Amino acid sequence: MKTKFKKFSSDHENVWHLFNQMSDGLMITDYQQNIIAVNPSFENITGYSFEEIVYKKPNVFLSPEKATHLNFKEMWKNIHSRGTWTGELETKRKNGEAFTSNITVTSIQKQQVEESLYFIIVKDISSRKKVETEITRLANFDELTQLPNRTQFKKIINEAIHQAKKNHNTFAVLFLDLDHFKKINDSLGHQIGDELLQQIAKRLQNVIGANGTVSRFGGDEFTILLSPLKNKKEAYESAKKIIASLQQPIVCAGEKIYMNTSIGCSFFPEHGTDYTTILKNADSALFQAKKAGRNQYQEYNDSINEGLIEQLQIERDLRTALAEQQFEVYYQLQMDIETGKPYGIEALIRWNHPERGNLPPFIFLPAAEETGLIAEIDDWVLQTACAQTKKWHEDGHEDLVLSVNISKKQFDRPDFVKRVKQTLRETGLNPKQLCLEITESMAITHIDEAVDKLKKLKSIGVQLSLDDFGTGYSSLSQLKNLPIDTLKIDKSFMQGSGDEQENHVLVKLIIAMAKTLNFAVICEGVETEEQLLLLRTEGCNHAQGYLFSEPLAPSNCELKMKHITENVNII
Ligand code: C2E
Ligand code: CA
Ligand code: CA
Repeated sequence: MKTKFKKFSSDHENVWHLFNQMSDGLMITDYQQNIIAVNPSFENITGYSFEEIVYKKPNVFLSPEKATHLNFKEMWKNIHSRGTWTGELETKRKNGEAFTSNITVTSIQKQQVEESLYFIIVKDISSRKKVETEITRLANFDELTQLPNRTQFKKIINEAIHQAKKNHNTFAVLFLDLDHFKKINDSLGHQIGDELLQQIAKRLQNVIGANGTVSRFGGDEFTILLSPLKNKKEAYESAKKIIASLQQPIVCAGEKIYMNTSIGCSFFPEHGTDYTTILKNADSALFQAKKAGRNQYQEYNDSINEGLIEQLQIERDLRTALAEQQFEVYYQLQMDIETGKPYGIEALIRWNHPERGNLPPFIFLPAAEETGLIAEIDDWVLQTACAQTKKWHEDGHEDLVLSVNISKKQFDRPDFVKRVKQTLRETGLNPKQLCLEITESMAITHIDEAVDKLKKLKSIGVQLSLDDFGTGYSSLSQLKNLPIDTLKIDKSFMQGSGDEQENHVLVKLIIAMAKTLNFAVICEGVETEEQLLLLRTEGCNHAQGYLFSEPLAPSNCELKMKHITENVNII
């Protein structure tokens, strides 16, 4: 210990020795806070030699610009009342480098005030601080994009709520999800997926700039706080700018990638005054934006949640529906226009919901598609309908052709053809008497793969029909290449949506075109005798609709077939 006081060095030799050995810095001041002694560790830590700071005040090594938050009054109060104070101080070394110290000041009061002393222990905790800062960074920021993460975003929103309440203003939260990101990740690999996310994070930050905070909420989800916000229009504008910016191709590892994004938006205080509600409602709006066709933004409104609750309920109930056999297949007759006899039947699913009664497909198929359960459902329908049709064949309706709707998910399964084969084998149905109904979009997207699959299906003998024809955009040249047997004219042409005259002209044209391509034609949604007459005149092969029969449960369908066969002149 170097000291100006002889007294110190001679008294209590062993104590001084101890001070010299301490790894913590020690400094002693007199009653006026003039430094009168320091140990070697103090010199090491601060870089000041004893000679340089003797008789100076301890604040030479305080970092005043960083210490403003410290309440010195409070510190002195503690020292005077309790004799000691411990706390963290921002300090600086002789070379100007700032570091954080843990300081303990102890006052040694003597009767003679002039003899009083202050013992100050200085612990350099900068490396611990660094670790702490790093831990905080890891806990609050996303490693990949360096954006605030979900935890940090929550803190940011809570602070925004606090400020908005205080200043009576508003802010917006955008919840953003990249459309089909998973597909990109799966097909191009995680490395490109990661790079893509980094580039997207940068774009988002460029668009938002100082008008808010972008955070990575997780996976391909980003959340954005727009604050301060003058009006809602500003938020809409930001959402539009984001969508436009992400629509520009992103180049990753030489690949040009096109991204679309959906955005849900909620406002404080209109859509919630706490973090959970604001986020939940932005997320609901996002869900709505995706359902409405993606690549767009939606603002939250109350009816979204009602619809969503129902949707979620349906999704949940769907999971047990298959296991508990709540589904049923109904059958709708398809008539041969020329002979007036039933030609076939279309299998149409119904859900006997335990509380809601008999539900039509439009209520639950979107949810089944969303959850992926549709493929399982389609499997079940195929199996059930094939078995039922086989029974009808054995009961004397041996020519009946069964049509089954195939969803895109089901069609895209790599083992789809195998599944169809297996079902035919298990039920004993003649493949020629099974017709699979696919839609234009399923056949046209990835047309080469689709044609390949369709050809495989043809090679096992099943028929193929193009459902809802006329609502898609396939060109004649594309149609020519599809190995299908039948075009099924969509019911909207019968339903009088649009000009009736025009619809009739279109029906005539479709039938004529189908004939030149050697496709058979069936028209659905036939409800009136006039419609049937038109179809017959134009040479349409088959017709389906309420004019003949609604979709019916198997026993009723059987009665209907019997009735019609016995009164063939009904047509
Ligand atoms: P879709 O394949 O176009 O089936 C024809 C729809 O038109 C059926 O509705 C049928 O009930 C209805 N329909 C029949 N005749 C008439 C008529 O004269 N007028 C009117 N306005 N409508 C008529 P449904 O049963 O509600 O089925 C709706 C859609 O759900 C089907 O349209 C099909 O795309 C899908 N779907 C039904 N069952 C299944 C299934 O097992 N699997 C899959 N993937 N989709 C199915
Ligand atoms: Ca159909
Ligand atoms: Ca249809």
